Amino acid sequence: MRKKAAGKVYIVGAGPGDPELITVKAMRRIQLADLIMYDRLASEELLRYARDGAELLYCGKAPGAHAMPQQLINEALVRYALEGKTVVRLKGGDPFVFGRGGEEALELAAWGIEYEIIPGITSAIGAAAAAGIPVTHREYAASFACVTGSRCHGEKSPIRWDLLAHGVDTLAIYMGVSQLPAIREELLKHGKAASTPVALIERGTTAKQRTITGTLADIHTLAVTMKLSNPALIIIGEVVRIREQLMQAEQQAIALIG
Ligand code: SAH
Repeated sequence: MRKKAAGKVYIVGAGPGDPELITVKAMRRIQLADLIMYDRLASEELLRYARDGAELLYCGKAPGAHAMPQQLINEALVRYALEGKTVVRLKGGDPFVFGRGGEEALELAAWGIEYEIIPGITSAIGAAAAAGIPVTHREYAASFACVTGSRCHGEKSPIRWDLLAHGVDTLAIYMGVSQLPAIREELLKHGKAASTPVALIERGTTAKQRTITGTLADIHTLAVTMKLSNPALIIIGEVVRIREQLMQAEQQAIALIG
């Protein structure tokens, strides 16, 4: 009975920042939603595509300040769906990559509420591409990993920096800005070369994107100098060299043509 009367929840990836990097499917769901519950990292520009009369509810979590605890978000999703609403839960990047989309899906499933997950371009892929860094490359990297930096001094399941230092070619570290010195220390301690190239990409894919490159040896001082702030990604690995090569090649081409 309840299932028939209930609405539907779309757990939607908004993409990495540039509002144009959303999928067609996600955009269509935004256009038909009765209610959009959106996060801080989902581009607000996308809300312009909501239909007239749609409700917009901010659920963003600024670092350290929880605007709306996850439990309340889960409850709200259930409540609005039971009222018969079509709800879009709009999240930055991909909802299942450090997006807590799994927790929300589990809650909806437990209530028998219909839901659909619509993937998005995760920020590591988006920001790396926008910075000219391929996360894999024939000569440099056959594997990459998405890692959270926020669990560096780790409670339950600490990050296996020992394995990551050797077992994966490219590391894309989310939520790592405030932990950069600790991450660097872990990787060096486990034998990652201090000369390993590193890129820091702030507000990737947006008009405000800033990228700096260095090595594991100096990146934390560069981050302080540049006053790196959130959201930012740390890309560690030989692939970062491709960015320099692309920039050099472009400059040579311009010099040739000019
Ligand atoms: N679900 C999101 C990740 C959420 S965790 C995704 O798939 O991208 C939040 C972290 O994502 C931030 O701390 C930052 O490390 C990263 N991030 C999100 N948007 C970003 C952007 N535009 N540029 C750089 N990093 C970003």
